[in-house]
Amino acid sequence: MERGLLLIVSGPAGSGKSTVDGLLCQNPEFERSVSYTTRAPRKGEENGREYNFISEEEFLRLKDENALFEANYFCGHYYGSPRRRAEEVLASGRNFIMEIDVNGAMNMKKIYPEAVLIMLLPPSYSAQEKRLRGRGTEPEEKILARLARTKEELEFLPQYDYIVYNRENGAAEAAEEIRAIVRAEKSSVRRNPAAKDDYLAN
Ligand code: 5GP
Repeated sequence: MERGLLLIVSGPAGSGKSTVDGLLCQNPEFERSVSYTTRAPRKGEENGREYNFISEEEFLRLKDENALFEANYFCGHYYGSPRRRAEEVLASGRNFIMEIDVNGAMNMKKIYPEAVLIMLLPPSYSAQEKRLRGRGTEPEEKILARLARTKEELEFLPQYDYIVYNRENGAAEAAEEIRAIVRAEKSSVRRNPAAKDDYLAN
């Protein structure tokens, strides 16, 4: 059985990560990791869907038990993804998506070098700014902080494998681009080291 791909998807605020990943996961070939976090649920979030919301004590216990693939402390809260589910999905040949920040992505690259790192971006910086303001839900200083954070996140772009733009009303197109990346990666010579021997033996 061919193993699935581990896809790491990062993207600044307003990139539409969860919309694009949600579209991908409509196909059973993809499953999104549900991380553990110690932050409180936001309005509309459900335990077990967006995150598994747990206490700091439980989080530290899972970390000690080596149940987490990686863990990060971000803006005052812990985040980490369950290791066992990732192993099960990849072993079954399905692709596993982890939506994590740039630090988590850099950790994962060390822990699991076969991972494919994808940076999802709005069409441009000015379009991102417009999207964040358009939501109309956040105070100005928070918007400015998110834009400043974007510049820091983009410093990590050279460590990523692919850039996908989420254009206006373009989530379906962005999801299709990610499917194309998966097809290309699966055909890569690097991922098929036994191809010559298999060919000659049949
Ligand atoms: P938020 O609290 O806004 O949902 O997430 C904050 C940041 O944590 C986002 O950049 C999100 O991608 C990242 N994040 C979510 N789950 C994990 C995880 O399991 N590990 C790491 N390293 N980051 C995560």
